[in-house]
Amino acid sequence: MTAYKRVLLKLSGESLMGQQEYGIDQKRLTEYAEQIKEITDLGVQVGIVIGGGNIFRGLSGAANGFDRVKGDQMGMLATVINSLALNSALTALGVKSRVLTAIRMEPVGEFYSKDKAIETLEKGEVAIFSAGTGNPYFTTDTGSSLRGIEIEADVMLKGTRVDGIYTADPEKDPKAEKFDKISFDEIYNRGLKVMDLTATTMCKENNLPIVVFNMDIVGNLKKVITGENIGTLVHL
Ligand code: UDP
Repeated sequence: MTAYKRVLLKLSGESLMGQQEYGIDQKRLTEYAEQIKEITDLGVQVGIVIGGGNIFRGLSGAANGFDRVKGDQMGMLATVINSLALNSALTALGVKSRVLTAIRMEPVGEFYSKDKAIETLEKGEVAIFSAGTGNPYFTTDTGSSLRGIEIEADVMLKGTRVDGIYTADPEKDPKAEKFDKISFDEIYNRGLKVMDLTATTMCKENNLPIVVFNMDIVGNLKKVITGENIGTLVHL
């Protein structure tokens, strides 16, 4: 038995760099694909949003003199590159997946619609939602909240480099403690930075719980799916 039937998995672009300074680390990419295969083998329907921070971020582009909107469009295209890489890594393992893009760009990917997404999931294929929301001034976290809500996922699984949400940054404060569970309101009250506020609020208002967990430890995704108490659950 799995704890969830349909999930939206958010992968960070930055984690895809592995030990590199930039781009896609093949080993990390394969590890991600293998972990995803483990849960599709259990019959879980999986939608994925992957970030683009390993290639380009609109905000850092703007800091270097780029127009913000152009920079964000470059960031969205970066998420498409990562999505294609994941699509190809999944194919290599025999897992069928389809890239849906928030910006029209056939034949790179099919233009996103909720119907297409649900059809893909119900066929047992992985749906990779790329190009974020399709709009500048948003993030892939917001893209994940949006797609998670649209596909009526049971949960958003936010795969990160840390093993959950802490009272403070564990790398800076040795006294920082991890939460097993935390409510959306407590996140606001404590001013914790789990995701950007737009993304967090969308989840809260549409009752989409979030599990924050360390995706860089192989096997963790399956543990979350089978209901092991790892990471931090964000609830209403
Ligand atoms: N982005 C955007 N609109 C969206 C999603 C993403 O403009 O709906 C751009 C934005 O510039 C962002 C970049 O894409 O910096 C990469 O996404 P993100 O920073 O969320 O990636 P991650 O931090 O997860 O690697």
